[in-house]
Amino acid sequence: MTSESKSVLTGGCQCGAVRFAVSVAPAKISICHCRMCQKASGAPFASLADIEHADFKWTRGKPAAFQSSSIAMRDFCADCGTPLSFRRIDGPHIEIMTGTFDRPDRLVPTRQFGTESRLGWVVGIANLPSQTTLQNYGPEKLGGVVSHQHPDHD
Ligand SMILES: [Zn+2]
Ligand SMILES: [Zn+2]
Repeated sequence: MTSESKSVLTGGCQCGAVRFAVSVAPAKISICHCRMCQKASGAPFASLADIEHADFKWTRGKPAAFQSSSIAMRDFCADCGTPLSFRRIDGPHIEIMTGTFDRPDRLVPTRQFGTESRLGWVVGIANLPSQTTLQNYGPEKLGGVVSHQHPDHD
């Protein structure tokens, strides 16, 4: 990527020490339920956008990395711990955790992998009782919360 103006999507970690930009809209977006993605994300599954290294750039800071297997690295922010990527060692692609994008709504998964580890309840979450954060906390309590999260823009 040669210039900031070519960025079509941006994102970063929760504290903002690490930021990234993508110059082409990712075509392959997937959910992975594998046990390694569960551990690495600290969540029931990971959601990943596949991007060619040529179309991707870290624009602020550099992530730390953990070699999770003989073939793969997982990048994360050393300051706040946000999981950021999965990538094959020396491969042409990097897969970015879609929750770290400034507009995660633009990254819509079309495939699932690692379904041998898919937790049975995942398919039913739309049917669970639901509340917004405001409904859950109430205006007074939520109004007193001071966010330390980086805003969803550079
Ligand atoms: Zn961070
Ligand atoms: Zn996985």
